[in-house]
Amino acid sequence: MTSRRKFIKLSALGASLFSTPSVFAFRGSVNKPIVLSTWDFGMQANVAAWKILSDGGRALDAVEAGARVPEGDAKESSVGLGGLPDRNGRVTLDACIMDEEGNCGSVAFLQHIVHPISVARKVMEKTPHVMLVGDGALQFALANGFTKEKLLTKESEKTWREWKKKSEYKPVANIENHDTIGILALDAKGNLSGACTTSGMAFKLHGRVGDSPIIGAGLYVDNEIGAATSTGVGEEVIRIVGCHLVVELMRQGNSPEDACRMAVDRILKKNPSKAKEIQVGFLALNKNGEYGAYCLQKGFTYAVHDASGNKLSNSKSHY
Ligand code: ASP
Repeated sequence: MTSRRKFIKLSALGASLFSTPSVFAFRGSVNKPIVLSTWDFGMQANVAAWKILSDGGRALDAVEAGARVPEGDAKESSVGLGGLPDRNGRVTLDACIMDEEGNCGSVAFLQHIVHPISVARKVMEKTPHVMLVGDGALQFALANGFTKEKLLTKESEKTWREWKKKSEYKPVANIENHDTIGILALDAKGNLSGACTTSGMAFKLHGRVGDSPIIGAGLYVDNEIGAATSTGVGEEVIRIVGCHLVVELMRQGNSPEDACRMAVDRILKKNPSKAKEIQVGFLALNKNGEYGAYCLQKGFTYAVHDASGNKLSNSKSHY
């Protein structure tokens, strides 16, 4: 079942599942550990991450474990296995990861590997580089024990063949031609990490890379301040170096939600007519365990797991 449909089903279960986005005032105690993830598939990702966090584990391990959940789920059509392909029918994946020391790793335009987030972590830990792309990233993955797999499922191939009949490329907000999992965590030691992974915009040009594997655009972590991740039309996020901007806005004293809103405003200001038609959402967590989100169009959801449980919230939106 697609994540959007799951969301609709979940909504039907009762509004009590959802709470208003939380921007709570800092009262001197840090809300940790905590993990937050984009979209409704973030609920399951959080469960995997929480297992590690609640056991005193490291935020970095938690975000990797969380990101691997939708990556490995063939039914999720926007991440990893089962992700919708580019216009040539190739599934090409983008991912990045960043830890509390500012170490980061990234892969882009990677094919045939189910867990790009784990390859990104290996790039971070085993190479002097930050980013590997395309065939080089694949060779690196294979040399490091990852196996080559077929990522195009029968279902995603069918959707692609349907699309090919008209070959119309129009990104539409909040439908499943784009959804990324971005996941941010603060562990019991007070350290932050983040991960971001996607199959990118469905039916994109072969070779297109979005914001998700770009440190500063799709993800940014500064252990002194906070962390941010994004989802939606990556080109618009890259133009404003979105997640670095959100973290810098938090550094200036803004709450996570305000920082996300100000980044969305920047996109609106640059291109107001385009902003009406596309979706971009930001999610942020600060060093105190306070969090918030903001997006252009209604419909962006995010999941938060702390000691009080796991819950899905609707992000505030400009429109
Ligand atoms: N940001 C991703 C990209 O542009 C897609 C998404 O989050 O929907 O590739």
